[in-house]
Amino acid sequence: MLIPVAAAETGASASGKMTDAAPEGSPEASLFLGNPPARASLEIHGAALQPSEAAQGGLSIIRFRTVAGSEVLPQLETDKLSRPLLFKGQEGWSGFVAAGYSLDPGIHPIRLSLERLPPDKPAAEEGFHSAGALALNVARRAFPVERISVPPAKTPLRSENNLTQHTNRLGEAKKETSSRALWEGAFIRPTEGRISSEFGLIREADGVPTSRHSGIDLANREGTPIRAANSGRVVLSEYMTVTGHSVIIDHGLNLYTAYYHMQEREVQAGDEVKKGQHVGLMGSTGYSTGPHLHWSATIGGTPIDPDILTKGDPLSLSAGGSGSS
Ligand SMILES: [Zn+2]
Repeated sequence: MLIPVAAAETGASASGKMTDAAPEGSPEASLFLGNPPARASLEIHGAALQPSEAAQGGLSIIRFRTVAGSEVLPQLETDKLSRPLLFKGQEGWSGFVAAGYSLDPGIHPIRLSLERLPPDKPAAEEGFHSAGALALNVARRAFPVERISVPPAKTPLRSENNLTQHTNRLGEAKKETSSRALWEGAFIRPTEGRISSEFGLIREADGVPTSRHSGIDLANREGTPIRAANSGRVVLSEYMTVTGHSVIIDHGLNLYTAYYHMQEREVQAGDEVKKGQHVGLMGSTGYSTGPHLHWSATIGGTPIDPDILTKGDPLSLSAGGSGSS
């Protein structure tokens, strides 16, 4: 779907404020210890962002370890990056960091700190026992621009009210993500078809940007099978005013894919799906002008380029650097 430019910043968190940024390029070397740790149990080890550079619309993974046995709550502050959800696994903590398509190119600092869990004293007393700074370098990406001379007429389907309802419903569906990765290896394109609208496309009316495309449109015949891009759990399967027959899959760790404008749906909310399993048929329901699949991927509420996920396992994307493609 096309997201009005005014609403395109929803993934960004403006609440975090950085005060002392001292980031450097290397992901391994970019942890700077702040105050010396007051207690050995409150330490951050091996903090890294992989990759440390991502193009607009890309993603990166933050990872770090804390001393075994310590019950701690990591705190994370960023500037305009959306705040990643952090998950604790056997290898330590990790979380996806999304570089939204409208994120300013340049250095975006992330500050990590730890608090004892549950915090037995107010933060002011407990203080930051160990803190580190990382940074994501966001590279500019040339997105296609579609220039039109007259702003598109507001259709009743894309009314502000409907778009708000849509956004609220998505927020509900994505409230609880699996704390472990449910996907298996690289994602697949969910259907056959030509790309009729690219990710991040900027629509301009009389030189003024009016909307951004939050996914990829794959156009083909009505009834073309749509498959799950990877394994996961269906968190939404319903008819929605703007996006027609819609399915959203939680792949774990706050990573979701969405399938819109379908003719019919073949899965229900709560279903576990396997990569490649049919979820519906291509259609033109909702706000759509012809049969196509709108396929999108989000980290929480922030859209990323779904094609990135077809180039490797999201947990190891950094190895090939394809996260910046
Ligand atoms: Zn679309």
